[in-house]
Amino acid sequence: MASVLFNKRFNILNYNTHNMKKIIVMFSVAILSATTLFAQKTMKPEETETWENEPPVVVPDGNYGAPSDAFLLLQDGLSEWESEKGSEAGWTYENGIITVKPGAGVIQTKKGFGSMQLHIEWRSPEVLDPSKTGQARGNSGIFLQSRYEVQVLDSYKSRTYSNGQAASIYKQHIPQANATTPPGTWQTYDIIYDAPEFDKKGKLVKPAYVTVIHNGVLALNHVEIKGSTEYIGIPEYKAHDEKMPLVLQDHGNLVSYRNIWIREL
Ligand code: MG
Repeated sequence: MASVLFNKRFNILNYNTHNMKKIIVMFSVAILSATTLFAQKTMKPEETETWENEPPVVVPDGNYGAPSDAFLLLQDGLSEWESEKGSEAGWTYENGIITVKPGAGVIQTKKGFGSMQLHIEWRSPEVLDPSKTGQARGNSGIFLQSRYEVQVLDSYKSRTYSNGQAASIYKQHIPQANATTPPGTWQTYDIIYDAPEFDKKGKLVKPAYVTVIHNGVLALNHVEIKGSTEYIGIPEYKAHDEKMPLVLQDHGNLVSYRNIWIREL
């Protein structure tokens, strides 16, 4: 009997404590909300202005039409480029335009780059041989840090696997739109690239991300790169230097490039 009475009393006590807690929480929330509201009303506009970290001035239309802080890659012929093995770049150059020389191999920048904003213009050759379809039409590629390919391909009214068409990350990401214009016309890629990070043991700490705008149309929006882009097999990350050359692919087609510039981020 005594224990029943005790339990009842204890439950009442417990109930009251629980209710008290609830009331205290509600009261605190009300006070906090009132304080915030009061602070919002009494704050001056200046209190939320940030004057530190003033962005540097960049003139949008600087040298050769590129922003004033851009690194120009075709300002002086192929002087910024070399072959994969370090010898002279074997592509043709004329009036600011470079063109793949089939068999000459890839060309790469002498300078290395990490995270960047890249502007590049490309042109597929006229389709002279109608039997050339899919991946055989105007194939080239832009390898960010020498290993992550943004596909260059004549995808104008020409079908191939979706994750291998123009503006794809080759065999990793399908572009949201096909903005390809006819072969023989100049096209633009504006690429924002966040380089991957590796720890001292070579383990991936942060993957790479990329945004690709094709002829002014968003194709890829901050997608995660899964590793080096492979023709056969699964992409995989292998540690590399923070800065690596930009590589342009020789796929045997007469693809041309012009007005290539990079803003390092
Ligand atoms: Mg390619």
